[in-house]
Amino acid sequence: MQKVDPLLIDDLLGEAHPDAHCELDFGSALELLVATVLSAQCTDKRVNLTTPELFARYPHAVDYAGADRAELEDLIRPTGFFRNKTQSLMGIGSALVERFDGEVPGALEELVSLPGVGRKTANVVLGNAFGVPGITVDTHVGRVARRLGWTTQTDPVKVEQEIMALFPPERWTTLCHRLIFHGRRICFARKPACETCPLAPYCPSYPTGEPPKARAPRKAAAGTRAKAGRTATAATNPKARSSKAPSSTRAGTTPSSTRAGTTPSSTRAGTTPSSTKPPGPARASEG
Ligand code: SF4
Repeated sequence: MQKVDPLLIDDLLGEAHPDAHCELDFGSALELLVATVLSAQCTDKRVNLTTPELFARYPHAVDYAGADRAELEDLIRPTGFFRNKTQSLMGIGSALVERFDGEVPGALEELVSLPGVGRKTANVVLGNAFGVPGITVDTHVGRVARRLGWTTQTDPVKVEQEIMALFPPERWTTLCHRLIFHGRRICFARKPACETCPLAPYCPSYPTGEPPKARAPRKAAAGTRAKAGRTATAATNPKARSSKAPSSTRAGTTPSSTRAGTTPSSTRAGTTPSSTKPPGPARASEG
């Protein structure tokens, strides 16, 4: 299998999940911050069942700061870990009142200074409430990125940095929504639905979901590739690749997205996926 420009993969993800979006319900930066805190170890669906009453009862940061702990615990109990989450929400409310005039700040450094707020939560808020691009590395984003060969890292900050190097900032927030949708609907943790995955012809983890083995450090190459734009590259072991290639590729047929007549937008824009090009070692440039 040949390596394919990550931008093409993002285009394919966009076609597979055209409605990818933040699945937490919110109407303000504060509501998104609260919902994101509640979403830890909990489904977005359950959070969305819990937050209408919560948001009505606690509309402002000052309400969390002065909350009755027992009442707040009761309200958010269905989301799990409710004592810790109550502590976080009350701490966030107090910090917002004391340091930010009760408003949610729109900068990463300020957001992560709030109690219980890490980079993941901060990037969710920045990307979806403030329109500030960011890579949110949750379990789905990390897993799918590793399976696609974009990173071998498991540390979320390193994964974030390596994905950032592959894409222009204007793609970051939407890309994360698409990866999360893909991880929740197709690229499952235990049994990924590789046979129905539109990325299969390009995925180095097809057909088992087992990511490629850790290779030499790729940071420099990744950065170079991002700067170079949509140049597709060839992989280094065509023999191994051919044994893992999805059925459509093994049979010499065109990938499903092309078969279906849904040419990826990057192809439409003039970038041919490397897997559709004739083999040629001269194109190999990326480790
Ligand atoms: S081919 Fe399989 S491992 Fe690769 S992205 Fe699709 S579902 Fe995930």
